[in-house]
Amino acid sequence: MVPTPKPAPVVIAGGGFGGLTTALALAAHKQHPPILLIEPQERFLFLPLLYELLSGELRRWEVAPRYDALLAGRGVAWLRDRVAHIDTAGHSLQTDSGRQVAYSRLVLATGGRSDDFGIPGVAEHALDFRSLANVERLHELIQRLKQRQRPLQRLVVVGAGPSGVELICKLADLLEGSTILELVEQGPELLPNSRSFNRDQARSALLRRDIHLRTGTRVEGIDATGLELVRGGTAPMAGAAPMASVEASPARQALPGQRERLPADAVIWTAGMAANLPPISPAPERDRRGRVVCQSDLQVTGLRDVFALGDGALCGEDQPPLPATAQVAYQQAQQLAANLMLSLADQPLKPFQWNDLGEMVGLGIGQASLTGLGITLAGPAAFQIRQLAYLARMPGLSHQLRVAAGWLADWR
Ligand SMILES: Cc1cc2nc3c(=O)[nH]c(=O)nc-3n(C[C@H](O)[C@H](O)[C@H](O)COP(=O)(O)OP(=O)(O)OC[C@H]3O[C@@H](n4cnc5c(N)ncnc54)[C@H](O)[C@@H]3O)c2cc1C
Repeated sequence: MVPTPKPAPVVIAGGGFGGLTTALALAAHKQHPPILLIEPQERFLFLPLLYELLSGELRRWEVAPRYDALLAGRGVAWLRDRVAHIDTAGHSLQTDSGRQVAYSRLVLATGGRSDDFGIPGVAEHALDFRSLANVERLHELIQRLKQRQRPLQRLVVVGAGPSGVELICKLADLLEGSTILELVEQGPELLPNSRSFNRDQARSALLRRDIHLRTGTRVEGIDATGLELVRGGTAPMAGAAPMASVEASPARQALPGQRERLPADAVIWTAGMAANLPPISPAPERDRRGRVVCQSDLQVTGLRDVFALGDGALCGEDQPPLPATAQVAYQQAQQLAANLMLSLADQPLKPFQWNDLGEMVGLGIGQASLTGLGITLAGPAAFQIRQLAYLARMPGLSHQLRVAAGWLADWR
């Protein structure tokens, strides 16, 4: 007898928010296809809670559960490897360890990476904040700065988006006044895409912690001892607080085009993000941030049986780009799992529809600000609501229950 060939699996490249959620949602369908998740890391990383891992408010197993525990008995096979190259014409891919893997459908979920925009010295001298290794390095840096306590020692965070603002508030609380903290932003305002309530709360959080904000300031280079800055001269947004209230020192009210050297003991770069896709042939269409262009049903434009979501995907060609957030990746994953089932059954696919549930920003130890679903709140209560909202988004019920039990035990 000729054995029936096994169907090629649905392969999901990348087990972050988009990839892991897709795998679990697909595995929850009755009669689901074989599912193979390819992910090089040992642990899933709940990135929105990385700040709480840095501050010690949460533990490593809560923020970074192991894939083998998350996937045990869930009907998803995990290959701990990295996708090195994809051949879409041959419906196959190659991994770093040299494995050749065939797929029936492929999901690109390899997320994003920091983008240094080609600015000299960023890759060599600035720290990143998106991995467990980065948290370790920052722990060491905080210890060093607190023990040494040189006068005028300075830490600079570049980028006043949510990552930069959340990180610098936690750092200020951890450094306890031992270090001057500066937040450098090229645009005219911090949190440019946030709700005004959250932006106002963030501004107050910086002021309370004596964090110096330099808006309209471009980084031209970074070296081992500091940064080269140029004042861009961009005007503040309408309704923004006068810069002098945050930028207290006259030295910081530099003229447009003026250059300045800012000495720093360490620089953390949160200013840019680009897609982190492996090489694909034939090459799909990409935008200027390297994101692969998709239709509204999350199929990659021009590539059969290939789908994409999350930070590496630009979905809905004629629609405004969605924010690069876990909230978007999580929602896309639910629709993508349904569309994979439809695609395998040769049924028409459904478009993804984004439902904006609001925005939460951590603003230091035990503090947050949130707006959404009819709630506008800041302070410790907002922090608790944020933790509970993230608990509900943690992968798998058993991990959620373990984390909840740990929190209840701490509370008692
Ligand atoms: C510090 C930080 C804080 C954040 N806070 C928030 C927040 O509060 N709220 C919010 O909504 N969003 C937040 N975000 C953004 C959010 O985490 C991302 O938008 C989300 O993780 C995107 O999901 P993704 O699946 O596209 O990518 P990711 O979650 O980054 O996952 C990508 C995965 O692909 C794997 N991978 C990479 N290359 C390969 C390869 N070649 N082969 C196989 N696997 C590969 C990686 O190891 C990773 O596990 C934050 C991001 C950061 C960095």
